[in-house]
Amino acid sequence: MDRRALLTGDFSLEPAPKQPSAPPINVVDEGFRRQCEARLAEMRAADALPGFDLRGVLARNKLSRRRFLQWSAGITAALGLPSVFTPQVAEAAELLGRVPVIWIEGQSCTGNTEAFLRASAPTVSELILQSLALQYHETVMAGAGFQAEETLASAAKQYAGKYVLVIEGSIPTGANGGYATNGASAQKFVDRVASLSANAAAVIAAGSCASFGGIPAASPNPTGATRVSDVVSGVPVINIPACPMNPDNFVGTILHFVLTGQWPATDSLLRPTWAFGTLIHNSCPRRAHFDAGEYVQNWGDEAAQSNFCLYKMGCKGPYTYNNCPSIGYNENTSWPIRAGHGCIGCSQPAFWDQLAFERPLATQIPGPGIFGLGLQSSVDKFGAGLVAVAGVGVAVHAVASGIARSKSRRSESGGDDDSETSVEP
Ligand code: SF4
Repeated sequence: MDRRALLTGDFSLEPAPKQPSAPPINVVDEGFRRQCEARLAEMRAADALPGFDLRGVLARNKLSRRRFLQWSAGITAALGLPSVFTPQVAEAAELLGRVPVIWIEGQSCTGNTEAFLRASAPTVSELILQSLALQYHETVMAGAGFQAEETLASAAKQYAGKYVLVIEGSIPTGANGGYATNGASAQKFVDRVASLSANAAAVIAAGSCASFGGIPAASPNPTGATRVSDVVSGVPVINIPACPMNPDNFVGTILHFVLTGQWPATDSLLRPTWAFGTLIHNSCPRRAHFDAGEYVQNWGDEAAQSNFCLYKMGCKGPYTYNNCPSIGYNENTSWPIRAGHGCIGCSQPAFWDQLAFERPLATQIPGPGIFGLGLQSSVDKFGAGLVAVAGVGVAVHAVASGIARSKSRRSESGGDDDSETSVEP
C-alpha cells in the first residue's frame, strides 16, 4: 500500500479468496447469460412447492408490478449484474418457491425472523421471506409439539438433498449440548443441526449468532456457544451476518442460487462478497467529514446535528464489511449511521466483545505496537489483517487531518499556534 492511499484513507484489502465452484459474478458474458437461462428453464420445469404465491402476496399487500420490478432492479444491481438481467432476476424471485427451506433456531432472540415479519409496510424481500416455501419454521408455522416434529421429519425426508437449511442463532456445545433442546422430543440443538445439515443442499447461517456465535458466544460464553461452520461439514455454508441480517442480503443470496444454480462467491468468513465485499467506511455518506477531520465529539452536539463523522463516538465502519450504505434497512429507510449512531461492527466476528463499545477502537486495544495489532486474536488471519490495515489507515489519516487543520489555523491566525498541533482522534 502506498503512502498516498494511507493518507487519503482510501485503503483496500487484498481480494478475499473465493470458493472454487463459485462463478465470477461481476464478469457477465454470453456464457453466463446462457447459464442463467438454462437454470431458469430448469426451475420452471420443477414442481412448485405449496405456500409460495408471490404475485398473490404482492397484490394482497398492494405492491404493484412496477414496484416489484423496481425492487428487482435494485437487487440486480446489488448482485453486481448489469441491468439487462433485471427480468431474469424478477423471474428468479417468482421461482423461489421451487426451493424448499427448513428454518431452525437455536440461541437467538429471533431478531432475524422478526426482521422479515414486520407487520406494517413490509418490503418485497420481507414478503418473499414470509411466503418462501418454509417447510418448517418454528416461529411462523401453525403446528406445535409432536405435530411440528412430524412436519419437520416429513419435510426433511421428502426434500432430502434439495432443501436449504437456514439456521438462526448460535449452537451451544457446553454441557454436552444440553443448553438447548428442541421440540417435544427434546432433541439437542447441536444434534438437530448435524442431522438436518447432512441431507441439505446448503446451509445458510442467518444473522451474526449463527455466523459467528454472536452475543451468546460473548465472553465468558457460559454455554459454549459456537458458529454453524464449526458444527456443519460436507455441504456449502453461507454466512449472512449482521444483527439482524438484512433480508435483502438473504433473499439476494437465494436468488443467486435460483438464477445461476450456484451459491455466490464468499470471503474467508463465508460471507457473500456481493453483499460483504466492501468496508462500510469506504462508501459511508459521512466519509467526506472523516477525510476533512470533522468529527462528532458528543452526542447531540453541533457536529452531530450536521451529520459529521462518528469515528470518535466509536463508529466501527472502518473495520466492518457490509453493504448497509447502499441498501440500508427497511427498504433503505435508514441504517445506523444514517440514523446518527456509529456502526457497531455487527457483521464482524466477536463484535460484541471487540467492536460494539462507543469509543474508538484505537483507545481500547491493549498491547504494544500501533493500536495493538493483537486485538483480533480470535478472528482468522483475514480479520486480523483487516484491523491492522484499517487501524493504520485511520491513524495516519487522523495525523494528516490534525496537521492540515493546524496549518489552516496557523495561516488564519497569521503565525504559529502550537496549542493546535495535538493529533486527533
Ligand atoms: S461515520 Fe464511521 S464509517 Fe462513516 S466515515 Fe465516519 S468512521 Fe467511517
